[in-house]
Amino acid sequence: MIIQFKQPVNQAVLQEILRKLKDAHYHGILVKNHLVIFDVAHLELTPREQAAIADVITEQPRYVLGSRVFHPEDTIIQTAHNRIGGQQFTVMAGPCSVENQAMITDLAAKVKAAGATVIRGGAYKPRTSPYDFQGLGETGLRYLRAAADQQGLDVITEVMSIDEIAVAAPYTDIFQIGARNMQNFDLLKAVGKAGKPVALKRGLAATIDEMLNAAEYIAAQGNLQIMLVERGIRSFDSTYTRNVLDVGGIAVLRKLSHYPVIVDPSHASGHADLVAPLAKAGVAAGAQGMLVEVHQDPAKALSDAAQQLTPAQFAPLVQQVQQIHALLQQPLTSDLQTPAQSTATTAPVDHD
Ligand code: PEP
Ligand code: MN
Repeated sequence: MIIQFKQPVNQAVLQEILRKLKDAHYHGILVKNHLVIFDVAHLELTPREQAAIADVITEQPRYVLGSRVFHPEDTIIQTAHNRIGGQQFTVMAGPCSVENQAMITDLAAKVKAAGATVIRGGAYKPRTSPYDFQGLGETGLRYLRAAADQQGLDVITEVMSIDEIAVAAPYTDIFQIGARNMQNFDLLKAVGKAGKPVALKRGLAATIDEMLNAAEYIAAQGNLQIMLVERGIRSFDSTYTRNVLDVGGIAVLRKLSHYPVIVDPSHASGHADLVAPLAKAGVAAGAQGMLVEVHQDPAKALSDAAQQLTPAQFAPLVQQVQQIHALLQQPLTSDLQTPAQSTATTAPVDHD
């Protein structure tokens, strides 16, 4: 349950309720004027306690801190160069891996010119084979930070282990938790404690609820600066697309949670020529940003060669996606009403 206190919070009553919870071995988290109590649907409250409370919410999902029930407004994440979430649209782009200093310095200028405000690049790479390029580690992070600073961009980069968090922290603005680590709970707790924004990628075969519960591990450490990244999930047919972009999942995440939702069409598609249509679909479904892999010479890339766009392919995509996003911010006219908003009284016929 969630107890929403009137403001300013009556501290005496709060302490009294916290004592009651402790005596009953219940676990509660206080966020501003909300006290979230796990595994409790009902608590006896005295008239004095009731007078200090604005609302009691008893129906909430397990991922309570990430839920719109707890936080109805969109979360906006403020970084050095961006406000991410709400009605903003944030373009994050760069190579799959930082390969050398010249390439990342050049790409930072090119993606910025195309409209990106965050540069990506992996320095610690989760590769399927141990013999594949594993990333440049801290040297790569140094190149990435320098390139970003030259252009006034934020940095997003992946960390795969708890030790890498402290190494990467001085170089990055956003920690990326990759699909393979979505349920690495110790890593989630540690990145939650690091106090910087986190972009959590959906696991290869994770349900929406598993993703929101993974985000909850970060939030439970007091860090609500979370972005949810839909990057496609495994399905039975990977003949033409590397993964299946869950476009419906983007709309569901927007509905259930207040965190910014970002689409990654690169890992979803696995093929450069499919990145643009998936990016546009993701934005149309409500994504508030996109994370796209860009490389000067994709064929020679040390990782994810097939799915990276050239800067020349990337620039027009940004323009189109921004237009779609702008269109979605306009109020609907009656011609554009969706079935859910129409006043029709008959139920839609199911032809299936
Ligand atoms: C990446 O961003 O390069 C990456 C490895 O992504 P994912 O974890 O989504 O596979
Ligand atoms: Mn990649």
